[in-house]
Amino acid sequence: KELTDINALADEYLRMSFHGLRAKDKSFNADFKTDFDLTLPKVNVVPQEISRVLLNLINNAFQACADRNKDLAGFENLPGLTPTVTVSTKNLGDKIEISVKDNGPGIPDAIKDKIFQPFFTTKPTGQGTGLGLSLSYDIVKAHGGEISVESQEGLGTTFNISLPI
Ligand code: ADP
Ligand code: MG
Repeated sequence: KELTDINALADEYLRMSFHGLRAKDKSFNADFKTDFDLTLPKVNVVPQEISRVLLNLINNAFQACADRNKDLAGFENLPGLTPTVTVSTKNLGDKIEISVKDNGPGIPDAIKDKIFQPFFTTKPTGQGTGLGLSLSYDIVKAHGGEISVESQEGLGTTFNISLPI
């Protein structure tokens, strides 16, 4: 474990994920935003593992935006609907919170309790392994943290992670 600047890590992986998806598909587009708590203390984590978690959540968020892009084909100029991924952090005193938010299609109630199971995916064969969230869950738990999801169909999804300081 190493004392790690989560704001720097999240910023790097947000950009990496966006440019990676764009390199694969030129028509992919989304906005991304950050809302970092500048008082965030460094936390003692395995940086490679927390990077994996961030990349999994951010990739999922951008992929959800890509789905929204398809729903919006022909309506790109409607205001207020720009597909957007926002990563924010908060210093909660004894722990930090990291949130990854998208305004994609949301997660139907019927599958909300399955998404952290290994191999559960709704993506077409070859596009999703269904391992991202289950791995993320295990990593966050092994760090003494929590991971949870809030989602509303048609509005979007927010994953929250807390890690002890
Ligand atoms: P994969 O991305 O390979 O499908 P994950 O474990 O990362 O596997 O996610 C499992 C499933 O959870 C996804 O297939 C999708 O149905 C759902 N999911 C995860 N993140 C989001 C999100 N941000 N918006 C909508 N659905 C999501
Ligand atoms: Mg995934």
